[in-house]
Amino acid sequence: SEKSMDKVVSLCKSRGFVYPGSEIYGGLANAWDYGPLGVEFKNNLKRAWWKKFVQESPYNVGLDSAILMNPETWVASGHVGGFSDPLMDCKDCKSRHRADKLIEDFTGESADGWSEEKMLQFIADNHIKCPNCGGENFTDIRKFNLMYKTYQGVTEDSKNEIYLRPETAQGIFVNFANIARTTRKKLPFGVCQVGKSFRNEITPGNFIFRIREFEQMECEFFCKPGTDLDWFYYWKDYCKNWLLDLGMREENMRLRDHEQEELSFYSKATTDIEYLFPFGWGELWGIADRTDYDLTQHQNHSGKDLSYFDQEANERYIPYVVEPSLGADRVALAFLCEAYDEEQVGEKDSRVVMHFHPALAPFKAAVLPLSKKLGEQAGKVREQLAGKFMVDYDDAGSIGKRYRRQDEIGTPFCITYDFESEQDGCVTVRDRDTMAQERIAIDQLERYIEEKIQF
Ligand code: ATP
Repeated sequence: SEKSMDKVVSLCKSRGFVYPGSEIYGGLANAWDYGPLGVEFKNNLKRAWWKKFVQESPYNVGLDSAILMNPETWVASGHVGGFSDPLMDCKDCKSRHRADKLIEDFTGESADGWSEEKMLQFIADNHIKCPNCGGENFTDIRKFNLMYKTYQGVTEDSKNEIYLRPETAQGIFVNFANIARTTRKKLPFGVCQVGKSFRNEITPGNFIFRIREFEQMECEFFCKPGTDLDWFYYWKDYCKNWLLDLGMREENMRLRDHEQEELSFYSKATTDIEYLFPFGWGELWGIADRTDYDLTQHQNHSGKDLSYFDQEANERYIPYVVEPSLGADRVALAFLCEAYDEEQVGEKDSRVVMHFHPALAPFKAAVLPLSKKLGEQAGKVREQLAGKFMVDYDDAGSIGKRYRRQDEIGTPFCITYDFESEQDGCVTVRDRDTMAQERIAIDQLERYIEEKIQF
């Protein structure tokens, strides 16, 4: 399975989905750049999320809040002071590890919410070894804050310290009252945001699974206390269906409910949707009932009233929050792994094909003139389609080679313009998955493709 991860990574690099960051300078550890195909793919994912969570939801609205926030935000959220990662060093080789990750790698289960004592005891009792050198001598646990710090303004003193946000959620909470007032929405309603978050992770890795600069797609859904668990189940289903509708196979996902002791102290229920990556099960989407913790914290720290007056019930309360939180890069990796396939074609031939849902595919179609002599006419077909969606154009090499290149980047339709096309006004459309070919009128092409790429 390590091998198939390597194959996905190498396809990503060679075809322009994802490059190592700052590569000409020897790179920057765990930084990755999305290439021409990767940016399309990730944009399509973000668009598909926005469509279901904002456009089609009767409850939700969108937001784009700033990465830089008043530092008091992070005191209120608990990111300064409270939660930080439990780190330990190996006394033998001096390598640094997250205690909870050592336990998770050992048990295959999450250690979220374990106390330091419990982690230390467990590591000692089970003779958990240093992944680097195999030693069993660890230091005590130290807390490490994973937020990136920088300075606002010209003087680099502690008064001017600010942070890059480690999650998009807080930008939603601090705007709750603004949004409730200006949209005049009644509870329940949700606020959705897509944007960059930064965490100085100790153990980044597995390609774009855990990185330090990443994108999140988060929804904070505000509801009346007492209705929160129903909404928690509602969003759990909604999220799962989004993945299924985009072609993720059910056998590659599982819903893992957090045990009581694993729950954050403020959370009533948390479920992770996990995906079976080539390196094992990994968290994809965290769905949590966060009660009134966040709004109460911000009310206390800001001194502003963040309660809601429920006219129907004639009562005032702080709304409860259900949060589905998804990483754009992480779900991109899941869909890259899900799509990757090597297929036997006929007796001797094989092909690599990315079976993306057409809505996610970087190019919806590729226009291929059978001969370079047909370039002008084929160019017109390309131009006609390019007004509607991303299309590739390729006139180099044999038609078979060109089909293979498009299969490898997941283009659902190849459109071949041949010597008959000018006479009959038709082109041959080849389906990526079935490899079946159909003759389609050029003036029907747009509608034909539009229908098949719906999400
Ligand atoms: P993990 O410990 O698995 O890195 P987490 O439990 O810290 O994740 P949350 O704080 O719940 O993650 O963040 C919500 C979502 O944001 C995660 O489910 C994941 O999809 C994404 N995410 C979090 N950290 C990263 C990261 N470093 N790189 C990429 N995606 C991330």
